[in-house]
Amino acid sequence: MEAYKVQQHKYDVIVVGAGGAGLRATFGLAEKGLKAACITKVFPTRSHTVAAQGGISAALGNMGEDDWRFHFYDTIKGSDWLGDQDAIEYMCREAIPAIIELEHYGVPFSRTEEGKIYQRPFGGMTTHYGQGTAQRTCAAADRTGHAILHTLYQQALAHDATFFIEYFAIDLIFEEGRCVGVLALDMNEGTLHLFRGHAVVMATGGYGRAYFSATSAHTCTGDGGGMVLRAGLPLQDMEFVQFHPTGIYGAGCLITEGVRGEGGYLTNSEGERFMERYAPNAKDLASRDVVSRAMTIEIREGRGVGPNKDHIHLNLMHLGPEVINERLPGIAESARIFAGVDVTKEPIPVLPTVHYNMGGIPTNYHGEVVTKRDDDPDSVVPGLFAIGEAACVSVHGANRLGSNSLLDLVVFGRAVANRCAEVIKPGLPHKDLPANALDEVLGRFDALRHANGSRPTSQIRAEMQKTMQNDAAVFRTGETLKDGSKKISEVFTQFKDVKVADRSLVWNSDLIETLELSNLLAQAVATMHSAEQRPESRGAHAREDFPERDDHEWQKHTLVWIDAEGNSRFDFRPVHMYTLTDDVEVVPPKKRVY
Ligand SMILES: Cc1cc2nc3c(=O)[nH]c(=O)nc-3n(C[C@H](O)[C@H](O)[C@H](O)COP(=O)(O)OP(=O)(O)OC[C@H]3O[C@@H](n4cnc5c(N)ncnc54)[C@H](O)[C@@H]3O)c2cc1C
Repeated sequence: MEAYKVQQHKYDVIVVGAGGAGLRATFGLAEKGLKAACITKVFPTRSHTVAAQGGISAALGNMGEDDWRFHFYDTIKGSDWLGDQDAIEYMCREAIPAIIELEHYGVPFSRTEEGKIYQRPFGGMTTHYGQGTAQRTCAAADRTGHAILHTLYQQALAHDATFFIEYFAIDLIFEEGRCVGVLALDMNEGTLHLFRGHAVVMATGGYGRAYFSATSAHTCTGDGGGMVLRAGLPLQDMEFVQFHPTGIYGAGCLITEGVRGEGGYLTNSEGERFMERYAPNAKDLASRDVVSRAMTIEIREGRGVGPNKDHIHLNLMHLGPEVINERLPGIAESARIFAGVDVTKEPIPVLPTVHYNMGGIPTNYHGEVVTKRDDDPDSVVPGLFAIGEAACVSVHGANRLGSNSLLDLVVFGRAVANRCAEVIKPGLPHKDLPANALDEVLGRFDALRHANGSRPTSQIRAEMQKTMQNDAAVFRTGETLKDGSKKISEVFTQFKDVKVADRSLVWNSDLIETLELSNLLAQAVATMHSAEQRPESRGAHAREDFPERDDHEWQKHTLVWIDAEGNSRFDFRPVHMYTLTDDVEVVPPKKRVY
C-alpha cells in the first residue's frame, strides 16, 4: 500500500453533512461555545434539502384550529405504529418553537393576509385525532427547503463554525468502542485528513440513489449508513422506503404533495377521481403509502393513462393561474421543463417514485446512536450521533408524513447541539491514537483506488438500481423478495471485481462514485434482506402475501448488520410505547384508515 500522508485536525465536534440537519447542528454547536467543524462533499447550499418544496409541519394554528397533540397522533398513525412515541412527542411539541426560531433567523415564509406564516394542508394531517383537515404545513411558496437551507447556512456563517467544503468522508475511526473521528479526502487537493472530535455527527442524508427512479439528488448515496455498517454497527427499519405518489413520469423529479394540498387531484384513464374509492375521507390527501398503492392498483387493473397505460394524471388546471403562480411557481416550471406540460391547461403525468428512507442509523431522541448490546436495546454508542434522513430516531416509523422531514432536521439538529453542550467540555484534549489506528480504513481506500477488476462502477450501479426498482417496489411478495435478495447479493459480490480507471486523487469522480457505490450497495442489501424477513404489511412495506399488519409479532424495529461479504444478520428493538410527559397519552395500535 502507498504510504499516505494524513493531516490531523482537532475539534470538539465533527459534523459530516451540511444539509438542513448538519447545518442546524453545526451552528447550534458553535452557539453553545463548542469548536465545530462541518465536512461536506457538496457546497452546503447544494445539499438535497435545497430541493424540498412543500413545507415544514408545526401545529401553529395560523389558518384554523390546531394542537401539537393532534400532530402527535397523526404522526403515530402515519408511522403505522412503528414510530417511537417518546421521540414523536418531543418532535411535535418542539415543532412550534423550532418554526418560530426559523422565522426569526430569517426564513422568508409565505404569509396570510394578517401577516402570519402561511400553512397548507398535507397528507395524513388532521385535527381532533382524525376528524377534520389540519392546515399545518408552513411553506415558502413551493421552495421551502431552498429558503430554509440558505437561512441556516447564513446562520452558520454568522457563528464561528469551520467548513471543509468538497471533502468526502470515507470512514469513521473508533478506539476502544468510542467514535473518535473521521477520515476524509479533500477532493480538490487530493489530500487525506483525519478529523478528530469528541463526538461525530452523521448528517449525510438518505440513500435514494440505490433505486433507478428517485426524486433525490445524485449525491444521496447514504454514505453515513455505509460507514456505520462498516464500523460493525446496525441500521434500523431499512425495509421501509417511501414512494412519493407524484414523481414526474419518466424524469422522476418531484411534484410536491402541496399541489394536492392546494386542491389538485389524481385521475385515471376514465377521468375518475379514484382516491375517493380508496380513502373516502382524506381522498387525495391520504398518506403517501396509501396513495402510491392506489395508483399502482389503478395502473395494474388497466386504468393507467398514456399510450402504455402506465401512469396517472395530476390535475391542477382548475386552481387557476393566480394560485399556481403565487403558491406553486416551481412546480409549473418543473412540469414545463420535464414533462412539456402547461399546468394551467393540461394534467401532469405522474408515477410513484422513490422519495425517502424511513430507515437509517438508530438513535434516541437526543440524536445519540444506539445499538442492541446484551439485553439493552437502547445502548448508546459513545461519541457517535446521527440526524436527518441518515438517522432513524424513529419518528417516521413505517411511513413518514409529508413535511415531517424538514421538521425532523431542525428539531433533532438542535437536540444534538444541546446534548453535545451537556456532555462535552469545550477544548478537552484528544488522546493520541495508536500508530496503526488508520491502517484498516486506509487499506480499504487504497484497494478501491487501485481496483483493477473487469466491471466499471456504472455497470454495477445500474444492476443494483434495476434490482431494487423491480424487487423492492411499492408491492412486494415473498417470491419477488427472495429472488431480489439473491440478485442483490450477487450484485454485492460483483463489486469485488470493480474497475476504477483513474488512479489520481484530484477530482477523481470515478473513485468518488465507487466509494459511494460501496455505501449504496450495503444499504441495498440491507433493504432487500430486511424486507424479506418481515412477513406483514405495515406503512410503506406492503406484502401481498401478508396483507395484514401483525402487531403481536412484528411491532418492533428491525436491526440489520451487514458484514464485508454482504451477509446480513438480524435482531430487533422494541417500539417505544411510552411518552416523555403526561401531556399526551400513548396511542395504542388500531386499524389505519383514511
Ligand atoms: C425533491 C424532494 C423534495 C422534498 N420535499 C420535502 C418537503 O417539502 N418537506 C419535507 O419535510 N421533506 C421533504 N423532502 C425530504 C427532505 O427534504 C429530506 O429528507 C431532507 O432534506 C434530508 O436532509 P439531510 O440534512 O438529512 O440531508 P441532505 O440535505 O441530503 O444533505 C446531506 C449532506 O451530507 C453531505 N454528505 C453526504 N455524504 C457525505 C460524505 N461522504 N462526505 C461528506 N459529506 C457528505 C452532503 O454534502 C450534504 O451536505 C424532500 C425530498 C426531496 C428529494
